[in-house]
Amino acid sequence: MKTQVIVTDPDHPGPAEIARGVEVLAGGGLTAFAAETVYGLGAQAFDPAAVAAIFAAKGRPAVNPLIVHVGDIGQARICASEWPDEADRLARALWPGPLTLVLPRSSMIPDLITAGGSTVGLRVPASPVALALIRGLGSPIAAPSANRSNHLSPTRAEHVVADLDGQIDLVIDSGPTAIGLESTVLDLTTTPYRILRPGPILIQDLETILGPGNVVQDALAGSTGILKSPGSLAVHYAPRSPAFRASTRAEVDRAIGLEGVVVVAIGGHAGLDLSRSPRHILESPDEAARGLYDLMRRCDLMEPRAIVVLMPPDEPRWRAVRDRLARATCPLAEWPGSGD
Ligand code: AMP
Ligand code: MG
Repeated sequence: MKTQVIVTDPDHPGPAEIARGVEVLAGGGLTAFAAETVYGLGAQAFDPAAVAAIFAAKGRPAVNPLIVHVGDIGQARICASEWPDEADRLARALWPGPLTLVLPRSSMIPDLITAGGSTVGLRVPASPVALALIRGLGSPIAAPSANRSNHLSPTRAEHVVADLDGQIDLVIDSGPTAIGLESTVLDLTTTPYRILRPGPILIQDLETILGPGNVVQDALAGSTGILKSPGSLAVHYAPRSPAFRASTRAEVDRAIGLEGVVVVAIGGHAGLDLSRSPRHILESPDEAARGLYDLMRRCDLMEPRAIVVLMPPDEPRWRAVRDRLARATCPLAEWPGSGD
């Protein structure tokens, strides 16, 4: 298969580019496009064969469900069998935006999308390209991130091409994505409501709408006080090079200056002397969200012996970035090379 790449404006997508994307989707094909979060790999959600093609192109295991992107609340209600008042209030306040709501599925949703489960993840994306594709198609688009399974999510069209060239029909290149991290996923089918994946919408944003104490989130792997065993760490969103995380300067000191080590310092490490290693610094949560996956991909291209990440502080505004880093890295103490 030859993958076609077309370029369009992110704020005012061209009618011809959108029409081509819609044509591919309506024919059961796969179109990659920029959401405000990351690039998604889209297929018509109500077409089981098209949805199956997403799993094949990504090498995605069938146990991992897909998010369904809808154009408005009306379309969301067609995909869900229940639309509780909480969903309505959240959707009115935060859609279009990076919040996925998990609700009981309706019979319109193919089994593959839900990984055989009884719930479906729904959201209205905020990017003009995504919204124009959904409106043009006239029905929802199932779209996971447009990367090979387990690899870093793509935030630029070049990342999609690097992972999926020859596997998909079309990439609509509208430049780097605005946010750079995947949506917050909130399960509304359990009490209290549970954040399944931290993201750009924070727990306090949700509590403002749902009430304090009504939302829970799991502790992160590797965060203070919680030590999950290394084997239980879900590796996801990961670079190809061996990648390790350090929380203190003393820890990272052992790795600085070692041959083949790239250091990535994220958040508030002013004054740390990293000059002996190739290094990259992402200062604020927004900058880190936008730049993290691109930086990891660029580090990979250097083929380092190890990427060592100095973690941002354990604060709510860093939650989503810390979550992705915890999945992309192992504790530096586990690095055999750190003793030499
Ligand atoms: P991605 O491949 O980054 O788009 O990830 C989609 C993610 O959304 C999945 O890995 C799940 O974490 C989450 N998700 C989607 N649908 C559901 C669902 N029905 N129940 C729970 N989580 C879901
Ligand atoms: Mg993904």
